[in-house]
Amino acid sequence: MNILQIPAFSDNYFWILYENNNKSAVVVDPGDHIPVINALQDNNLILSDILITHHHNDHIGGISELKKCFPNVNIYGPSDDRIPANIFLEDQQAVKLNSLNEEFKVIDVKGHTNSHIAYYFDKKLFCGDTLFSCGCGRLFEGSYTDMHKALTKIRKLPKETMIYCAHEYTLDNIGFAKLIDPENVYLLKREEEVKNILKNGGYSIPSLLENELQINPFLRFDNPDIINAVQKHFNIKINNEVEVFKYTRDWKDNEYD
Ligand code: ZN
Ligand code: FE
Repeated sequence: MNILQIPAFSDNYFWILYENNNKSAVVVDPGDHIPVINALQDNNLILSDILITHHHNDHIGGISELKKCFPNVNIYGPSDDRIPANIFLEDQQAVKLNSLNEEFKVIDVKGHTNSHIAYYFDKKLFCGDTLFSCGCGRLFEGSYTDMHKALTKIRKLPKETMIYCAHEYTLDNIGFAKLIDPENVYLLKREEEVKNILKNGGYSIPSLLENELQINPFLRFDNPDIINAVQKHFNIKINNEVEVFKYTRDWKDNEYD
């Protein structure tokens, strides 16, 4: 499967998926039609399928114009009135598109929004605004328990899984991670690496799940260093993983961003 990375707006990524032997292409979360149409034209592709992770406009804003250009396009998404899909997906559903050789599995990852889903192909996760490199999405609709559950599902995927998230937030996320986890050598190494990548006009996404497990404070709710940092910062005694996650999220929301 070929994957094109389409930067859009100030920090979004859309993803186009296609096979060499097939002119049909799939786009994940087209928030705008123009960069998608340009990339399809450059690569001689026809849009056959749209995959939507959640209803925010920077993920669905391009759908109506894409439908005008490609009237037969199928739009997959969770069942949610706010998403103009024509094929609705359920948690754990396996789907094989004609346009791609690999099938994908749907994973319910509610938390950022109440109907957010992720698309898992073999060792490739398209997770919208659920997990970012070194961060996670804000809780606009779901509870801390929902997001902890979503992130726990992602943690259990194979370590070699590449995380295709929807935003280039990595360097900013690392800034917060250094507050909570200042002695983490993997984190400091990733900071240098990301600075270099960005300086040279590159992208820090996709990222490797194995590395996220080492550096991302929102995936490390069972790590003694994170637990200690949260207990010390809030002067409390933490009792479970959801609380570690909750206080980590609150710390970033209230004292960093
Ligand atoms: Zn969003
Ligand atoms: Fe977004």
